[in-house]
Amino acid sequence: MKIAENVYGYRTAIANIAYIAGLGETKEEWVLIDTGVPFSAPFILKNSKKLFKDKKPLAIILTHAHFDHIGALQTLVRVWDVPVYIHEKEMSYLESEKKYPPPTPFKEKGMMSFLSPLYPRDGIAFHSNIKVISAEDSLYFLEGWKWLHTPGHTDGHISLFREKDGLLLAGDALITVRQESLFAVLMQKKEIHGPPAYFTPNVETSFTSIEKLLALDPHILYSGHGMPMYGNEIKEGINKLLYQHSTENLVKGN
Ligand SMILES: [Zn+2]
Ligand SMILES: [Zn+2]
Repeated sequence: MKIAENVYGYRTAIANIAYIAGLGETKEEWVLIDTGVPFSAPFILKNSKKLFKDKKPLAIILTHAHFDHIGALQTLVRVWDVPVYIHEKEMSYLESEKKYPPPTPFKEKGMMSFLSPLYPRDGIAFHSNIKVISAEDSLYFLEGWKWLHTPGHTDGHISLFREKDGLLLAGDALITVRQESLFAVLMQKKEIHGPPAYFTPNVETSFTSIEKLLALDPHILYSGHGMPMYGNEIKEGINKLLYQHSTENLVKGN
């Protein structure tokens, strides 16, 4: 699915990945953003071949290390042997030194929330090929793009933004489907939503990150879950979400 110029999206069961093409001097280089749910490697490889023939990516970039974003990572690295970029605060999860906090299935109603204790929380033992995102120019090969630290959903979550057309790849910092609801996920019903509640230990920080993303003035939004969104519905949706959150806080007396 074409999202915008040189950017393609692909959904692995419940989680999206993205391809950024048109890179490098030849404009033929590309990178992969996230690697989907477990067992999605054959589909990702097939799709990559369709888009780029036998050319392998310059790198794999991870928005964060949740199981539904690193599912095919080991297989893809074995096949491509390319560097894997991840934020310094997320690395220890990927390398299994740290576990994510347990989910909070009752924070928000919905079948997906209810099932969340069953989702794997372990990182994968994975030391080779890892490169750290820390400095502004860590992703120097992504011309025209910048990366932003958008913590809350996880400590080292990052988002990617392309100034030229206001394209935001938000990972799970901001998603376009109510991921807690199995029905909404199956129907891919469009709705701007905060990160999946059952897996977001630091909600206040996640909202600070959402404000940061709104300040970028995004015109195209493609997230880790849900369909792409375009134009005004993005800012309207984010503002609605921020408003709901602030009124909830007022009611709670925060
Ligand atoms: Zn996540
Ligand atoms: Zn996710």
